[in-house]
Amino acid sequence: MSANAPAGVTVVDHPLVQVKLTQLRDERTGSGEFRARLNELSTLMIFEATRSLATRVQRVETPLAPYDGRALARPVVVAPILRAGLGLIEGMLDLLPDVSVAHIGMFRNEITHRPESYYFRAPSHLADADVILVDPMLATGFSATGAVTQLKEAGATSIRFVCLVTCPQGVEQLRTAHPDVEIFTAAVDPSLNEKAYIVPGVGDAGDRYFGTAG
Ligand code: URA
Repeated sequence: MSANAPAGVTVVDHPLVQVKLTQLRDERTGSGEFRARLNELSTLMIFEATRSLATRVQRVETPLAPYDGRALARPVVVAPILRAGLGLIEGMLDLLPDVSVAHIGMFRNEITHRPESYYFRAPSHLADADVILVDPMLATGFSATGAVTQLKEAGATSIRFVCLVTCPQGVEQLRTAHPDVEIFTAAVDPSLNEKAYIVPGVGDAGDRYFGTAG
């Protein structure tokens, strides 16, 4: 974990995370490899983002004796922001197979760079759950802010946000609007360009994941 991260932000600087993120950034990385690395990164990121989840005692019987072990205290809901957030789901479900998945459809108006909502579907137990909102890129922060607002309106009270790359503007936007939402990222890049892409970033994560670039 990086000591220089902004307040409320955990930068996961584990060597495996940084090596895989570098491979994602590389423009020579094609869709197949991009998907594989994104899946692996999402597993590593969810490992860190769930570190502070509450657990409760769960008694099991080993072949030799009873044992007081641990179970998660609350259900977990993973909520990808469509489309690119879907790329983080598979690797997260490998580690958390029993979670529910909410879907939040937002697209970015390419002129205003503001999010427009087109779909929202979440399980009814949001209020009792720890919600992990996911999108590989936290750029302007407007989509994430809107998604958190929608989740809260639907009852969520515990929300974490997981991305792979963010920038100061995205962090500032989300943390100002929703200071209770902790951000987990693999990198805080320096800036956004005039099209609101993170620089150096990875380019368009959704296009690269789904093979729709160019
Ligand atoms: N979405 C992306 O896919 N990349 C960015 O850099 C910003 C938003």
